[in-house]
Amino acid sequence: MEKDQLLTRRRALLTGAAALGAAGVAAALAPGTGNRAAPPPAAGPRAARRPLKPSEYRLSPLTGYGPPRSATGRTPVRGEPLLRVSGRGRTMVLTFDDGPDPRYTPHILDTLARYEVRAMFFVCGEMVTANRDLLARMADEGHVVGNHTWTHPLLTRLSRRRIRTEMERTCDIIEKTYGERPEWFRAPYGAWNRAAFRLGAELGMEPLAWTVDTLDWTTPGTATIVDRVEDGAAPGVVVLSHDAGGDRSQSVRALRRYLPELLDSGYHVTVPRRQHL
Ligand SMILES: [Zn+2]
Repeated sequence: MEKDQLLTRRRALLTGAAALGAAGVAAALAPGTGNRAAPPPAAGPRAARRPLKPSEYRLSPLTGYGPPRSATGRTPVRGEPLLRVSGRGRTMVLTFDDGPDPRYTPHILDTLARYEVRAMFFVCGEMVTANRDLLARMADEGHVVGNHTWTHPLLTRLSRRRIRTEMERTCDIIEKTYGERPEWFRAPYGAWNRAAFRLGAELGMEPLAWTVDTLDWTTPGTATIVDRVEDGAAPGVVVLSHDAGGDRSQSVRALRRYLPELLDSGYHVTVPRRQHL
């Protein structure tokens, strides 16, 4: 297939996803949601958070600006983080942690934009303070922003009060710069504890870990990062990479190689949708 035909197909897929809304192809989380009875979501799918034109809004009042989601009541307290997503077909999620960093994040956003793919960014509040424009860009381009604490501490060594400050401040600055409070959080170093799960749920966030760790922070070489993503590729996989915290030029270059290859292999690279069953 010609390159431009592929792009057209991808564009059609993305347009389809936005139009389908709740029944779209975006991944929905399965773990632990099977038997819980809870009211249906007031707001529609966050995955299709492309800004809606007024006419679209009138046509589909349930797919966008519902009342603010309650911070309590709908988010379960997990005992462990979610490691993968479930969705139709070959769905994969790319996540980038520790940013935003003006040296690397814009390049990652450029590559995602080139292929019209959305991803997740788990940001640190203190990084956001100097890079608010990058959060605005993530919002404009439909990416999902998660909470990765304010200063990236090892939460398991902190008091409950400190954990709360780390998480709450970050929720607040995300809301200010991105436009919505985060629905996801990820503990630094993947070090979760009960307090973090409890506070995360209180703040309306689901804990998301990852399936495939690229270990890109060890700067193993661009080719190795590409291999790790492609070897780990499978339906439902969540990939961990970094757009800050050190020299991330390998991560930037690797994405330029593995993303088109994943798409050519039929993967639908997207962001997860919270499912309230
Ligand atoms: Zn991190």
